[in-house]
Amino acid sequence: MKHLTNNLEIVQKEVEKLLKSDKTGHSYDHIKRVVGLTTRLLVDEACEYTALMIAYLHEIFDDKLLLPYDNLDEIYETWGLVKTEHFSEIEKGIKSIGFKGGFEVSEKSLEAQIVSDADLLDAMGAIGIGRAFYYAGSKGQPFHDYELEGVVATDYVSYRSKNKNVMGHFDEKLLRLKDFIVTEKGKQIAQKRHKMLQLFYDTFYEELKEGDVNEVKD
Ligand code: ADP
Repeated sequence: MKHLTNNLEIVQKEVEKLLKSDKTGHSYDHIKRVVGLTTRLLVDEACEYTALMIAYLHEIFDDKLLLPYDNLDEIYETWGLVKTEHFSEIEKGIKSIGFKGGFEVSEKSLEAQIVSDADLLDAMGAIGIGRAFYYAGSKGQPFHDYELEGVVATDYVSYRSKNKNVMGHFDEKLLRLKDFIVTEKGKQIAQKRHKMLQLFYDTFYEELKEGDVNEVKD
């Protein structure tokens, strides 16, 4: 039990150090919210330690972040973590998290499913909207592009393409997220967050019309 508490403390501190200066919406704040939501979504049948380790480490191998680790063994060794029987579930769990445009849906353990729901919930609602604008700004992408209206990615490569805008991201990801949430508690929170996304999206296009010269002339 002491090993588990120690491991969690070390992981929390190391992940905070690594991500605190991130400027793409994957900062340590995101990790903290996912850990918090994971705790809220936990059910008795799930292993809390495994779920929390996956939550803290779920971004650690993300290719967008260019972090210096290739695998979990390396992390355990460098950070001085004690290997317990949860290791392979944590390793598999970390690899199974990530929306990937909805094109690559992987099998998940109960713990990974809980973290995945927590991660998706953090891309929804008011916080999700804030993160999307922040991400696009950090990549120099516009928040809306008339040319790209209605264009949706058809595979993972086009989903990750550079030619993007925030309102398009609502169509390709944010407004679809509620359908990828699996846990009961997650679905309840998702309902409220989806409403916020939809309200923002509808209002955005209403306001766009108000400022459209062709609409004003009619
Ligand atoms: P995932 O890998 O689960 O798709 P990301 O790590 O790519 O999630 O996304 C991190 C955050 O940035 C999320 O809030 C996501 O919605 C947002 N984001 C990702 N791609 C874009 C984009 N092209 N435009 C705006 N926001 C984006």
